[in-house]
Amino acid sequence: MANEQDLMEKIVSLAKRRGFIYPSSEIYGGINGFWDYGPLGVELKRNIKDAWWHDIVRCPATGPDGRPIQMVGLDCSIIMNPKVWEASGHVVNFNDPLVDCKKCKARFRADKVFVACFYDQAAFKALPPGDTGAHLNFVRNPAYRFGVEADDESQVQAAAVAGANSDTRRKLQSGKYEFRAVRVDRRTSSDPLAVCPACDGELTDARKFNMMFKTSIGAMEDSSALAYLRPETAQGIFVNYKNVLDTTRVKTPFGIAQIGKAFRNEINPRNFTFRSREFEQMEIEFFCHPGQADPWYEYWRDARFKWYIDHGLKSSKLRLRNHEKDELAHYARACADIEYEFPFGISELEGVANRTDFDLTQHQKSSGRDMTYFDDETKERFIPYVIEPSGGVDRATLAFLCEAYDEDEAPDEKGAMQKRTVLRFHPRFAPIKVAIFPLVRKDGMPEKAQAIYQACAKHLAAFYDEKGAVGRRYRRQDEAGTPFCVTVDGETRENGTVTIRDRDTMQQVRIPGDSVLAYVRERLHI
Ligand code: ATP
Repeated sequence: MANEQDLMEKIVSLAKRRGFIYPSSEIYGGINGFWDYGPLGVELKRNIKDAWWHDIVRCPATGPDGRPIQMVGLDCSIIMNPKVWEASGHVVNFNDPLVDCKKCKARFRADKVFVACFYDQAAFKALPPGDTGAHLNFVRNPAYRFGVEADDESQVQAAAVAGANSDTRRKLQSGKYEFRAVRVDRRTSSDPLAVCPACDGELTDARKFNMMFKTSIGAMEDSSALAYLRPETAQGIFVNYKNVLDTTRVKTPFGIAQIGKAFRNEINPRNFTFRSREFEQMEIEFFCHPGQADPWYEYWRDARFKWYIDHGLKSSKLRLRNHEKDELAHYARACADIEYEFPFGISELEGVANRTDFDLTQHQKSSGRDMTYFDDETKERFIPYVIEPSGGVDRATLAFLCEAYDEDEAPDEKGAMQKRTVLRFHPRFAPIKVAIFPLVRKDGMPEKAQAIYQACAKHLAAFYDEKGAVGRRYRRQDEAGTPFCVTVDGETRENGTVTIRDRDTMQQVRIPGDSVLAYVRERLHI
């Protein structure tokens, strides 16, 4: 855990230092839950969105029915008629359970705070048998108790031990203590008191907190002007489903895809960009006949899981977690989370759900508009079922950044081995594909390097750098995740060749300067 915490700190610091991700409004002390993407980050994030859009909308795969999937795109407004959010259930139900610390006044999401309890095994054995009062007292008063913020129970014990002082940590690791975690919103009166992860103060009971950001439209600020920043992109797709049917030639089964901003007033944003208040989603609403929903659900669940593996996330760090029946929303028939082992724990990257006909039926009832689909061939009229793969762009970006992070050794100018930080991005995602350097700023080298740079930049993300020792320039590109670096040197003038260095193997080979673009494209398959 300490190592993993260390790793996360290194990633956050590299992200800032190299211009991937900055805290928003930093010169004013930042603003909790908001982040800005710097020059490298914006390229990385754009590459992820472009790859998704390409694979989902422009060049979709073949579906389980053996036919190419029909998919169209959409870009809806962020602010919609507030009736949309009444119909969808968000106004009443988009709540998280909130608890406050009575002492330090910090606020937490009750389903993300645990009481971590360590019980003395010897004391347990010494309890008088049959004395229920003594047993209850024992359970309520563990030998050690910590408040821990975590996404799920599996992370609690390690986090509690890591947060303890060294003396307590030694005792907890001695094997003499039994561990139990209680989620604060599931606590009963026979459980230990819920305490604050920050100061150990007592927590209040949980109450509901609606996570939609409110705003007002126009000059009035009364309730007639109330509007919301969308908490998901999906509803924009549902309310446009008829428009798409009427203006395109799609027939069920078909999908509508959208990438866009969403806003949630998260009680406690944390884990870097993982839980932000402003973020982007990549969502598909896939409309099909109710009788075909099960195979389509399985198709999308497995296809989306594979997409992450195909782009470099290790399958050993990915988990497909099918929701238990009692976890499902009342309208959902099935749901699975695609989870990734981040340095701070295993957490959700994307959710895939069979939402049945719930959303379209709700909008039909609320708007009075007909949301049925008429099948010309079978002459059947029905409200389609919807399969929804819903992923977060920022969570995907963070996962690919964490996966890419690596440390190894590389020789410096004098041949001594030095620690190297390298981001081993999938070629599709690398913010810069090739960097071009003149060895020195004379002898025509900058001009030649510039010419190669210009030729490459027309087709892919290229970078030109002539400052500092060439070893240092390599190091900077390793930290940016650039797959290839090209150096123009003395030999270039003699025979037109340049060296090209591979980020991962650090091998250098000589190739003709005018074949750099083709070389890079061939190896990166772009
Ligand atoms: P969580 O349980 O982590 O709050 P969720 O189940 O509420 O997430 P969904 O409503 O299913 O999330 O949203 C779909 C996707 O949007 C998530 O899988 C995630 O990738 C992304 N997402 C949701 N909330 C946030 C957030 N606060 N910050 C960044 N991404 C988010």
